[in-house]
Amino acid sequence: MSDKKIALITGATRGIGLAIAKELASNNFIVIGTGTSDSSTNSLAKEFEQNNIDGKAYILDIKSQDSVNQLFDKIKEDYSDTPDVLVNNAGITNDNLLIRMDDSQWFDTIETNINSLYRISKVFLKPMIKKRNGRIICISSVVASTGNAGQSNYVTTKSGMIGFCKSLAKEVATRGITVNCVSPGFIETDMTNKLNDTQKDQISKNIPMSKMGNPIDIAYAVAFLASEKASYITGETINVNGGLFMQ
Ligand code: NAP
Repeated sequence: MSDKKIALITGATRGIGLAIAKELASNNFIVIGTGTSDSSTNSLAKEFEQNNIDGKAYILDIKSQDSVNQLFDKIKEDYSDTPDVLVNNAGITNDNLLIRMDDSQWFDTIETNINSLYRISKVFLKPMIKKRNGRIICISSVVASTGNAGQSNYVTTKSGMIGFCKSLAKEVATRGITVNCVSPGFIETDMTNKLNDTQKDQISKNIPMSKMGNPIDIAYAVAFLASEKASYITGETINVNGGLFMQ
């Protein structure tokens, strides 16, 4: 067994999750990243290999308890250990005005972004409690604080995430486990590439720093929360948004 700590990052194939995986690897973690398909998971494995990253890529569908359980078993089998850090990053958007939203848009977003928190955190928390050490870091969003027209489903999940983290933080504080959120503003990834140039310009105009963020900006905040330096911070949300929303 290695003396390096293990970090599990869900949805690490691209965007923010990939940046978090790379940053945690450079902070001496073994990183385990997940993708939803063979092709995205294989390309993540290649990315790790090409960058000499100590880690592995596994398939995970966060909507399935079986898939979460299989991931847990696979990590235990391959590493004879369980993650010290869980980064709940995987998430989707499926936007529409509430009046036009269909059931699948609502329920799929809730299932992927929020029911998944219950599913995965419970499984990976158990060994953290036994070790009396652990970090759970959830990737929320600025819209949890501001609201956003067309995103009532997504905003419900991202603000729910903050409440979830505060409650869990209180439950496990005496066990050496911290639970925190990082709340990104608008970051350049596939998720925001769905926006057209006019929408992007409009968003940038409203950001005091006049630009969208980079995935690495989020990764730095996650790496801090995962580090020993953040051991007395729990139930907190770090906003990383270029000044778009200030607490
Ligand atoms: P992204 O580029 O769309 O990547 C999403 C990741 O989640 C991919 O790795 C994807 O895997 C994975 N994923 C999707 N559905 C999944 C499922 N059912 N089970 C497991 N994994 C799944 O997203 P991003 O922009 O990097 O965002 C990452 C997180 O930050 C999300 O939670 C998002 O809500 C949050 N966030 C993003 C922004 C932003 O501006 N980008 C702002 C605020 C918050 P595959 O590649 O295999 O599909």
